[in-house]
Amino acid sequence: MKKATKVLTLALAMIMLAGVLTACGGGSKNGSTLTFGTNPEFPPFEYVTSNGVIGEFDGIDMAIAKQIADENGMTVAMESMEFDSLLVALQNGQIDAVIAGMTATDERRETVDFSTTYYTATQVMIVKEDSDITKATDMADKKICVVQGYTGEVCVQEMGYSYEAFKKGTEAVLELVNGKCDVVVIDSATAKKYVGDNEGLKIVEDASAFESEEYAIAVQKGNTELLDKINASIEKMLSDGTINELAVKYTEEATAE
Ligand code: GLN
Repeated sequence: MKKATKVLTLALAMIMLAGVLTACGGGSKNGSTLTFGTNPEFPPFEYVTSNGVIGEFDGIDMAIAKQIADENGMTVAMESMEFDSLLVALQNGQIDAVIAGMTATDERRETVDFSTTYYTATQVMIVKEDSDITKATDMADKKICVVQGYTGEVCVQEMGYSYEAFKKGTEAVLELVNGKCDVVVIDSATAKKYVGDNEGLKIVEDASAFESEEYAIAVQKGNTELLDKINASIEKMLSDGTINELAVKYTEEATAE
């Protein structure tokens, strides 16, 4: 082959390769983009802000997601959707993984696989400062608010109490602030954020009524390739203190706002 032809052939090959790479990179499954789904209504884990760690998304989970992608040489993408839709979107391949302060429950394990636990929380009760609720059974004759599809809803259901479910934590808390309900059952770290943001509220804990909940990242059942990568990153972030630092940083920021 003449030199000029060789150069031309090489150039053509590179253009074709670039085309292939672009085609892969754009897809969410096998390319270099790792697409997570979240519901950014759950501070300090995920919330929308003007300048977040992933576009407009910020929080502990967002920093974790970004680091997982970075460590694996992938670009991170975040899709925002209703909490209830996350596992469906994962199952139908719209997203690669779910990171949403999601508790790894046995019920959810029937449809998806979960990573190593990266955070442990519990349900708590947010009440008005002058409330007479001191334990979970005190909720029996009270008006209870929960968020739809959260483990808090499942807990209250299992206790056999009636309740009203809202789409967002902020809506449930507003109901409490306005005196339209007596108690909001929600995850501990998020409860602290809401109590910090609103006057006149306090947290009531009841360790005998609410079990500890383990937050984990969900992937499609059997996607061990991705799960191994995620687990390796989480274990590293747990042992080198990254997750602890993120929890402190975002908890302080969230309550200082
Ligand atoms: N940990 C709760 C659950 O898994 C709430 C999660 C969330 O709202 N993001 O249901």
